[in-house]
This record gives sequence, C-alpha cells and structure tokens, in this order.
Amino acid sequence: MRKEIIPVTKSSLPDLERYLETIKPIWENHWMTNKGEIHQKFSEQLIEKMKVPYVSLFVNGHMALEMALQSLELEGEVITTPFTFASTTHAIVRNGLTPVFCDVDPYTYTIDVNKIESLITEKTCAIVPVHVYGTLCDVEAIEEIAKKYDLKVIYDAAHAFNVTYKNINVANFGDMSMFSFHATKVFNSIEGGAITFSEKKYQKKLERLKNFGIKDEETVDFIGANAKMNEFQAAMGLCNLPNLEEEIQKRAKIVEQYNMHLSDIPGIQLKVKQVNVKENYSYYPIVINSKKIRITRNEIFQGLKEEGILARKYFYPMTNEYECYKEKFGGQKTPIAKKISESVFTLPLYANLSLESVDRISQTLLNIIK
Ligand SMILES: *Cc1c(COP(=O)(O)O)cnc(C)c1O
Repeated sequence: MRKEIIPVTKSSLPDLERYLETIKPIWENHWMTNKGEIHQKFSEQLIEKMKVPYVSLFVNGHMALEMALQSLELEGEVITTPFTFASTTHAIVRNGLTPVFCDVDPYTYTIDVNKIESLITEKTCAIVPVHVYGTLCDVEAIEEIAKKYDLKVIYDAAHAFNVTYKNINVANFGDMSMFSFHATKVFNSIEGGAITFSEKKYQKKLERLKNFGIKDEETVDFIGANAKMNEFQAAMGLCNLPNLEEEIQKRAKIVEQYNMHLSDIPGIQLKVKQVNVKENYSYYPIVINSKKIRITRNEIFQGLKEEGILARKYFYPMTNEYECYKEKFGGQKTPIAKKISESVFTLPLYANLSLESVDRISQTLLNIIK
C-alpha cells in the first residue's frame, strides 16, 4: 500500500459558503480593488485584532516590506540577518540600501543583539530583524540600541502574526512591522501583507506609495508602484480571521505531540520556548547537531521524502550565499547562521495535520537518525 504523502504545509480555507457570501456584494457594486468596502472592513478588524494604531494593507508581504523601507526615506546601511527568506534581503537591496549581515543567536535563530553595535557605522540607518519561525527577537535590546544610535527598526514579522510578548501584540514593536498573509502562512488572505505602525505621519505616504504615488487626479508626489490588496484577497482574510484562534489551538496540539516524541532526543534541537511569549505555532524547525548524530540534514530530508514526508530546508541557503549576493555581500561572515542553515529543516505543520500523522512523521524521523 502506498503511504499517504504529507506536505510540509496546507493552506487554510474558510467555509466556501461564507466566502461566497462575503464576495457577493462585488457582483452588485463592481468594486474589485482600490480599497473597497471589504478592504476597509478587513483593515478595521486587523487593527482590532492586533491592537495597533495603524495598519496598511498590501498585495503581499514583500511589497509591504519594500514600501515600508521606502516610506522611511532611508539611505546607507541596514543591519539585518541572512537566516531568512529571500524577501528580507531583496527588500533592502531593491531600495538601494546596503545589507550588513549580523549573525544570529544559536538558540533563537534571531538577530544576535550582542553583535549589532560592532556593525554600526555612520552610514547605518536602520535595523531589519526577523522574528524567524515566530520566535520573538530581543525587542527590548533592539529598541535600546536603536534609541542610542537613532536608527529605525523595521521588523520582518512575516512569521509572527498573532504572537504576543507580555500581552502586547508583536505588531507594536519597532517603527514598523511587516506581516505576510501568504497562503502558506499561519493566517492567509490568499496572498497579502500588511505594515503596522504607531505614528500617523507614515500613513499617507504608505497609502500613496502602493498606488503609484498618486495623491489626487492631477498630483503624483511619490515614486510609487502598485501594491494594493484587492477585494477578493481582503474577503479571504476576513473569512479566515474568525477561525484563527481555533487553528492556532490545533497547531498547539500538533506541536505538543511532536514535542512528546522529539524532546530530549540527543543531537536534535527544537524551537526555544520563550517566557512571556504567546506563540502562533507557525513552524516546527529542527536543528541537527552533527557531532551527536552521524547523519546529515540532507540525508534526513531525503529519508523523510522516501517515506512520503515532505520537510523543508527552511532557510537554506542563507541569503548572503545566494548567487545574486555572494560576490557582493558574501564576505561578511555569519558562522552561526551558516551552521544553522546547513543543519535545519522544518517538519510538516498545519492546522488539519492529524495527530496520527505526527506520530508517523516522528517515528520515521527517529528511525532515520537512530
Ligand atoms: C513569507 C515571507 C516574506 C514575504 O511575504 P510574501 O507575502 O510571500 O511576499 C518575507 N519574509 C519572510 C521571513 C517570509 O517568510
């Protein structure tokens, strides 16, 4: 008998009737994009959910991050990490800024706050840290450094929707935070993204930048692009939002089940548990210690694949080793990020993954590394 293939992720979909009901008004008003009623409603619900002063919606997370950086009129060097998705580094470089790669902490995989200050020069204008896998960066230390050197902080919070620290939603840290509502994320609007911020002065500019920089019919005052979220995306977000807490609960059970099998196994490092943090259980990363396990990450990945279990080498390679960056920025050494990216993989995790599947995945993994 062929074993059922288990994908690494599976997009959440709302009840079809509910979605149809939500998009139905479009067939009367013909308003499909450019901030219609559904967009407006989704935006309001996000403000309420994230308890943040301002939200600006985008067609995807990447364009949101690009425009967040553009809106701040930055110039020079941006301190960031290479242990992330392509988007983070691309957004910096596509704004004409120079990424300066800081190494990551060996346990949280987020920016190592003890290494930031030594990278600051008079050209440094901002820090772009990443809440990798939904693990919170050291937001307090980062804020302190940013204040001391007058730097902007823009968080890549693509993985961290609904995460809270001391009961504060993660959307409230830094000058701005970017969220991705891509189909593969914990919460989706098909594709989609948002910038959250607390200062009103950024609002107008972000709204204009995503609509070609247009102020009114005869005035274009910014070099914008087109990055608006459309009504069908907003409708998907609106319909998925009420299911979010339940889905996170299901994910929590799955993670608990994985932990039951995989905690205390010599040579494998699981995601850290952070105090005062309410998680969103977005990913289940495993880092292999090759001194304790004599099998490589790639062999494990392949072994799982042969059993129909699709893991993901997330994030490998590091962005400073990409073909497009290694010549220019590869000289900056980030040995811990490198080691992690060469020994990490994420296991399947999505709300409807059955606990039996988790048992099968865990047993298969344990057999491979035995
Ligand atoms: C998904 C993701 C993005 C980009 O979001 P999109 O909505 O796919 O454009 C940026 N950064 C990280 C870390 C991500 O995982």
